[in-house]
Amino acid sequence: MKIAVLGSTGSIGTQTLEVARSYSEDITVVALAAGSNITLLEQQIREFHPVLAAVWSEEKAQELRLKVQDLDVKIVAGMDGLLEVATIADSEILVTAIVGMIGIQPTIAAIQAGKNIALANKETLVTAGHIIMPMAKEYNVAILPVDSEHSAIFQSLNGERHNHVSRILLTASGGPFRGRTREELKNVTVADALKHPNWSMGQKITIDSATLVNKGLEVMEAKWLFGVEYDNVEVVVQPQSIIHSMVEYEDGAVIAQLGTPDMKLPIQYALFYPERRYLEGERLDFGMLQQITFEKPDMDTFEGLKLAYQVGREGGSMPTVFNAANEYAVERFLKGKIAFLEIYEMIRTCLDAHTKIVNPSVEEILQTQQWVDELIRSKYD
Ligand code: NAD
Ligand code: MG
Repeated sequence: MKIAVLGSTGSIGTQTLEVARSYSEDITVVALAAGSNITLLEQQIREFHPVLAAVWSEEKAQELRLKVQDLDVKIVAGMDGLLEVATIADSEILVTAIVGMIGIQPTIAAIQAGKNIALANKETLVTAGHIIMPMAKEYNVAILPVDSEHSAIFQSLNGERHNHVSRILLTASGGPFRGRTREELKNVTVADALKHPNWSMGQKITIDSATLVNKGLEVMEAKWLFGVEYDNVEVVVQPQSIIHSMVEYEDGAVIAQLGTPDMKLPIQYALFYPERRYLEGERLDFGMLQQITFEKPDMDTFEGLKLAYQVGREGGSMPTVFNAANEYAVERFLKGKIAFLEIYEMIRTCLDAHTKIVNPSVEEILQTQQWVDELIRSKYD
């Protein structure tokens, strides 16, 4: 199988390449794209020999061209570069391990070029799911979930195609601040927020896990991937991250996928679907584990989840405003410019100021993102 990877130097990207390394007879990496880490990208090029690689800035691209001039690889830059990687003639699957709405255009281009999508980049589905899902159907391409919860749901739907799903039970760890009050969240630091209890991930999604915005994005992601209504997606806090999500059927049966937390499992599952392959690592030991506990999410303190249900139900351009405002707010939180709870405030400010577009085109989604950017700059910078 030939794959291309957007975001190869990130958390999901590097783990995708670990899978490619373990199964080098089956997986050929034909193209890679990264933001700015050309040191790691060069190593990846030397190990996997893609024919094409992209970095965001032309300046970095030029630097990288010099570094790899002994190799037969074309180096491209910018959005055109991402689009070239996404649509490269040879590849069968595009792994979207890039972070943020920047993934929208390359994902769409890849679908139109007939590539199956192993989707980690949830921001794309949250903002453009109404365009992407029908398009995937039209072009007969598969959207294979990489997000662990959605992979668990996907696995729990196996062989149940004709059965009606009553509820999707999306599990959440609750993040590093589970159990805290609003008062206690006022002064948390970036370092506190980056300490996720169970998963090691990129910075943006780690902050999103602390605010529960990530779970909110995942509720919307589930709606698009599995065609369910918001009333039928329930978030269950399961702090040990052992149950990766569950599906309840009409007869009350609940099917779940469990395992030790390791993103290589959903990555592999997406790449080799419907086959399962050996994955090295710890197995669950129920004797040692003793208990798995459950809680209800605290949506009043962690407003991210409540707002996500709200914008999801409103639809149109509202999820775009929610997502874009969150991306810009998290960027500022990580730089120490705003406090943790101000992330919610920025999201609310943008939602309140927005006039909804009912069925936004890609262009309108990107314009809405820009509108959010300008609004935040004018109000907060
Ligand atoms: P990350 O920050 O670790 O990696 C992001 C990658 O995108 C990097 O390779 C970066 O260079 C690249 N990138 C960023 N901007 C770019 C640009 N302008 N041009 C080209 N490349 C660019 O992020 P991550 O944690 O791997 O997450 C990636 C996506 O997967 C996100 O949408 C996240 O929500 C989703 N996801 C991640 C995990 C996880 O365990 N990390 C789990 C589930 C879903
Ligand atoms: Mg997840």
